[in-house]
Amino acid sequence: MSKLVIVGTVAFDAIETPFGKTDKILGGAATYIGLSASNFNVDSAAVSVVGGDFPQDYLDLLENRNIDIEGIEIVKDGKTFFWSGKYHNDMNSRDTLVTELNVLEHFNPKVPESYQDADVVMLGNLHPAVQQGVLDQMTKKPKLAILDTMNFWMDIALDDLLSVIKNVDVITINDEEARQLSGEYSLVVAARKIHEMGPKYVVIKKGEHGALLFHNGNVFYAPALPLEEVFDPTGAGDTFAGGFAGYLAKTGDYSFENMKTAVIYGSTLASFCVEKFGTERMQNLTDKEIYKRLDQFKSLTQFDIELT
Ligand code: AMP
Repeated sequence: MSKLVIVGTVAFDAIETPFGKTDKILGGAATYIGLSASNFNVDSAAVSVVGGDFPQDYLDLLENRNIDIEGIEIVKDGKTFFWSGKYHNDMNSRDTLVTELNVLEHFNPKVPESYQDADVVMLGNLHPAVQQGVLDQMTKKPKLAILDTMNFWMDIALDDLLSVIKNVDVITINDEEARQLSGEYSLVVAARKIHEMGPKYVVIKKGEHGALLFHNGNVFYAPALPLEEVFDPTGAGDTFAGGFAGYLAKTGDYSFENMKTAVIYGSTLASFCVEKFGTERMQNLTDKEIYKRLDQFKSLTQFDIELT
């Protein structure tokens, strides 16, 4: 079985959307990535840190989805990373209200020994020096290294970010962040500039407007599934990344052609994530539900046209 290492925050989130508000619930990039990747038959391990305030139930929830949690450090006298955000009425944009790094401030990631030869490394949203720290612990060059990041790290750790970006094959980033990183408005030009920073593959996520995959002058586009109910977009980007990484790890085919399918899996999984608050919808997702939605995806995007 392929091995997948996931690094990212395991967090408390407090979310406000036009449909309601939550107190501190389970969140974090590694949490969403792990839950999403758990739908594929791969051995995955999460590398992260939480405080003594983090409930055992949440760790059990990850373990029950077959995510190895040996690499999640518990700092007994520390507090878990906390993020709070409020969505605008369009549900596509949000304001960050609070980011408390807490135990993340002095985090030194440790990849479990049995995962240091993993096939795929998914560097989820976290301080770029920590992302690099994970890459440095790999005893064998991973077949694929994927990096996700956000504006927060561009604002406070751009140099570290630029140096880890050089070492990855794929970057997944949202449209506004791609613009910030490249200084370009056009996403096509932005992707080209980001290619020049290192990654051969650039995935730009556009929320409810789908995702673009760029490689070598080629571009592939997948729409997001039009949904009746969108309650909370939190974690959709990470869920996309987890589906993308999980599918590629499972198939072991890292070609552009196969990445197109990985984008479809990522978009499909993200479409479930947004239907309920937090991680709720991702906790008990079944293969049958995923299959059905992939089928909907296929009929949404497939058409025949006769070009004469
Ligand atoms: P997404 O909606 O996919 O961008 O991811 C939302 C998740 O990212 C939330 O569960 C947060 O806990 C987490 N998050 C928010 N800000 C940061 C940050 N600066 N670094 C790492 N993770 C973050």
